[in-house]
Amino acid sequence: MRSFPPDSIRNVALVGHGGSGKTTLAEALLNLAGVTGRLGRVEDGTTVCDFEPEERSRGFSLSLAVAPFVWKDRYKVNLIDTPGYADFVGEVHAALRVADLAVFVVSAVDGVEVQTEAIWRLAEEVGLPRMVFVNKLDRERSDFERTLDQLRSRFGAGVAPLELPIGQESDLRGVADLLSDSAWYYERATGVGAGTHGAVPDDMEALEHQVHDNLVEGIVVADDDLLEGYLEGKVPSFEELEHTLAVGVHAASVFPVVCGSALAGVGIDRLADFLCEIGPSPADRPPTEVTAGDSTVTVAPDPAGQALAFVFKTMADQFVGHVSLFKVLSGTVRPDDHLVNVRTGADVRLHSIFSMRGREQDPSAAVAAGDIAAVAKLGTTVTGDTLAPRGTPVKVAPIEFPEPLLARAIRARTQADEDKLGGALHKLLDEDPGLVVTRDDETHQTVLRGLGETHVAIALERLDRKFGVRVDTEDVRVAYRETVTAATGAEGRHKKQSGGHGQFGMCSINVAPLERGGGFEFVDRIVGGAISRNYIPAVQRGVEETMARGGVYGYPVVDIRVELVDGKEHPVDSSEMAFRAAGRLALRSALAQAYPVLLEPVSQVVIVAPVENQGDVMGDLNARRGRVQGTEPLAGGEQATTALVPTSELGRYAVDLRSITGGRGRFTSRHDHYDVMPQHLVDAVRRDVAAEA
Ligand code: GDP
Repeated sequence: MRSFPPDSIRNVALVGHGGSGKTTLAEALLNLAGVTGRLGRVEDGTTVCDFEPEERSRGFSLSLAVAPFVWKDRYKVNLIDTPGYADFVGEVHAALRVADLAVFVVSAVDGVEVQTEAIWRLAEEVGLPRMVFVNKLDRERSDFERTLDQLRSRFGAGVAPLELPIGQESDLRGVADLLSDSAWYYERATGVGAGTHGAVPDDMEALEHQVHDNLVEGIVVADDDLLEGYLEGKVPSFEELEHTLAVGVHAASVFPVVCGSALAGVGIDRLADFLCEIGPSPADRPPTEVTAGDSTVTVAPDPAGQALAFVFKTMADQFVGHVSLFKVLSGTVRPDDHLVNVRTGADVRLHSIFSMRGREQDPSAAVAAGDIAAVAKLGTTVTGDTLAPRGTPVKVAPIEFPEPLLARAIRARTQADEDKLGGALHKLLDEDPGLVVTRDDETHQTVLRGLGETHVAIALERLDRKFGVRVDTEDVRVAYRETVTAATGAEGRHKKQSGGHGQFGMCSINVAPLERGGGFEFVDRIVGGAISRNYIPAVQRGVEETMARGGVYGYPVVDIRVELVDGKEHPVDSSEMAFRAAGRLALRSALAQAYPVLLEPVSQVVIVAPVENQGDVMGDLNARRGRVQGTEPLAGGEQATTALVPTSELGRYAVDLRSITGGRGRFTSRHDHYDVMPQHLVDAVRRDVAAEA
């Protein structure tokens, strides 16, 4: 692949709800541009962008994939195909960071769907220019007007149709171009091809003129000179309209809508033209902010500037190994360049640089600012890292991934799996930083968190296929604890006589509850040397051992004060070990009498959902023993609800909230406090404590 200057580059993320046709559209564009000889199909598992086995078998994208094509010998378009399912939205976050334009693919059959709205919000937050491709107009029950109305009502007045379909459903023949007042017709039987230019059909003329006038009015209001001329009766030229439109697109205030069919090959060449003609190049976007020590500086995409690259995706390729996808933010990088990974300080040599097309590679001799490319074997470099020349400690802000809230505990199936598990998980997380793995020392579980059940399930499939590690999953154990609710005294007596000299230790303790979060206090109240000083810490150790091992219900004991009030020792048989055992026994006996209770972790959750789902959200929280603390209306017909919910009731909330709200609800959760668990629920979680030694 040859090198392109920034103003000839278009970094375009294809985004939208799952099944809207993103991967098929990428396939059509690549085929039309001559990158592929044969048109792949999602159903056959033969597309460029879905190349992982897990994607091919399911027929949908799980990770972002980059596929560049050259258009009209002048532009290099880097398509970034993204997954549409909510479980994989982390990939969309990464794609939006390096894209200069997001093309929302919307099915004209299904209309604006949940993920389309969710991703629109993400793009809006970062001011990313947006465009819409209304797809599947060849399908039965497709409706352009209806889809356009939905786009307008959801995304506002900036939505501007540039095309109208000619014919509908099986009779879809072409698209009418509103800017040029002309039409493009397609030979559907021959696959994806360029359209034939012609006149708008007679029966559409009246409609076309009306929409054309609306569009022109919408465009000229953005430019004072044009508007003045227009009001005086001067008709703006095509070039003037296109230029003003492009300015609005770059400012993310105008969102052009084009249309067609990815599968039938209608309107694909026009889309490619629009991407290049009105879509922003990296040079049209605000410069990237980077931090250099304590200060923030901006970096413009200047090919002659100092080299700076940002890694936005890491993959483990079966053949090439570790592959890093990066965007050059400044300068020009070439094979064999030496840079530094700013995070680790490690030297990084870019042995070979290539363009990725799905899984295939095409070597690049130089990659200039604004462009996207790949490099193999950077070892310790991961997603979010900045590469810069030595002595230039600038950092690009890392990608923020959504918090993964669905947790499964995993356990290696065999010792051989166990041996490889740590390393394999590490590589898995490199590839998908949207996953989180934690080790819970209290429950002794390794916990894998993802955005949903499919996310976790696919991560485990990859763990097996790519790294040969098989694991079983189980529910995440809740870190219950116990405490006491009354004060009591108890005695611990350890006595053994087995031949030679025996073991003896005896202690009396008082146990009392502390306030929640009070932890543990040990008070020495021994007077008159009832036992030797060195046995006192031994008793304390014994007490702590019982607390850690588990009390009456089998969980760690917290929030108690233990006073050591008395004891007895034997001149020969006593030892620290004997007093440790006495301490353990004393506490066990005290716990049983001091009205123990089970404490459960309670999380504070903040749920954001449409107001119309509020009743269901509340009812469901109630069923989970939740206590609502407050609600707050938000923009866009949503409401935020803050509630305290026992953590044990939140295990599947990531999945359940989605189904209650049709995918529109989202939430965050954090540990808040421990609270007494209702007695009738305790038996279900009681555990046996291993017999006392
Ligand atoms: P993605 O999940 O957005 O990437 O969608 P895909 O590209 O995987 O397409 C989902 C399904 O819709 C596949 O069965 C495609 O063949 C089909 N499809 C995509 N675009 C069109 C289209 O324009 N017309 C018709 N009839 N089917 C389409």
